[in-house]
Amino acid sequence: DDTAARLAALIRTIPDFPKPGIQFRDITTLLLDPDGLRLAVETMAAKIAGPIDLVAGIEARGFVFAPALALRLGAGVLLIRKDGKLPGATIAEDYALEYGTDRIAMHADACAPGARVLLVDDLIATGGTARAAVRLIRKAGAVVSEAAFVIDLPDLGGAAALAGDGIAVHALVA
Ligand code: IMP
Repeated sequence: DDTAARLAALIRTIPDFPKPGIQFRDITTLLLDPDGLRLAVETMAAKIAGPIDLVAGIEARGFVFAPALALRLGAGVLLIRKDGKLPGATIAEDYALEYGTDRIAMHADACAPGARVLLVDDLIATGGTARAAVRLIRKAGAVVSEAAFVIDLPDLGGAAALAGDGIAVHALVA
């Protein structure tokens, strides 16, 4: 639709980043545009069924959108970080990369039991990162029922996998 086309026009593709053969979707150009940024945040917020207690942003580009959405939804912000960055006691979750594994973490006491959490990131591809975040937040005793992304790469299957985990997936650009 028109909104998706306007947002897509503000996102650029950088070839061969971070390695040869990868077409990297770069949202920094969208963030630089005041109208585009507002359109992205407001369109995302409008898709959320809610109610939401916490918006969980995934490091690093999820951190850009999480507070903007949280302020609109009347929620707090939960930081999902690369392992080793958070100062308090943490819980962690591993996920598979093409080669090897990675680990994300959150503060063990960040969520009240049953807290309703919206997961946010800039992009979903294979869904490995987002699904690990869902496992982590559920391990903390919270409820993840929705996830929002600026970009979905549907051919990589992440959004479908997340839907299979019982999550309503929202994306602005596919
Ligand atoms: P997934 O785990 O395969 O779904 O990859 C999604 C994660 O990798 C997210 O945290 C994204 O920020 C990042 N990512 C993967 N590909 C891109 C891209 O083309 N542009 C921006 N971020 C990307």
